[in-house]
Amino acid sequence: MAFEAEALSPLQARALELNARLRDAHPSEILRAAIDEYRHDGKLALVSSFGAESAVLLHMLSQIRKDIPVLFLDTGQLFGQTLDYRKSLATQLGLTDVRDLRPSFADLATQDPNADLYKTDTDACCNIRKVLPLDRAIEGFGAWITGRKRFHGGDRLRLAVVEKSEGKVKFNPLANWNKADLDAYAEQHDLPPHPLVAMGYPSVGCWPCTSPVEDGQDVRAGRWAGSDKTECGIHVERARAPVEVGGDI
Ligand code: SF4
Repeated sequence: MAFEAEALSPLQARALELNARLRDAHPSEILRAAIDEYRHDGKLALVSSFGAESAVLLHMLSQIRKDIPVLFLDTGQLFGQTLDYRKSLATQLGLTDVRDLRPSFADLATQDPNADLYKTDTDACCNIRKVLPLDRAIEGFGAWITGRKRFHGGDRLRLAVVEKSEGKVKFNPLANWNKADLDAYAEQHDLPPHPLVAMGYPSVGCWPCTSPVEDGQDVRAGRWAGSDKTECGIHVERARAPVEVGGDI
């Protein structure tokens, strides 16, 4: 039987082409390429959790352009230290367009009025506090940048530097970098660490779902510890999502 290759959409073809060109590039070069391709008409955003490793990518961005929109998911369940860090780091780096994304009042009122949905249904909680706010905010953009890395394991082991997702191009400039690369960059540029790192949190999300880890454990072992959940859902194709709608970014 003759094999018929599935036709690629123009967006898939573009993502594959960019990935082939950039897959071994330095993260700064990947960022420059993303900005050159998509910054026009405000079509590019970077999504950051202002978490344990976020300063590296945000610093790289600030060295190229400070006015690219940075989307920050303020879930209403973050550590106070993260909210403080988001303010101080954005100021230090001179980022001029950090946008705080919050859950809708209607979703909170109807689905999580007591702010304890995480106790019974973490997928539904992530859905209203992360997935839907980001979906609404990202709608007008053609491409976005994430801070995901392969060394975090799980689904991220197969992470491409450039991919197509949900009708947009997604750049993952740090996909190839490991912990030593990140630490060396942070030291070289004297970047302030997230205050919880020194308290045993190598990955920082919402306070109810983040625990400190022991030496030698995986970076994300403290995220939804004791459950099968490893991702919040914002990086899951909706067709494959475990719930209809709904980590560390
Ligand atoms: S990480 Fe936990 S608290 Fe935060 S949105 Fe997801 S389930 Fe809710």
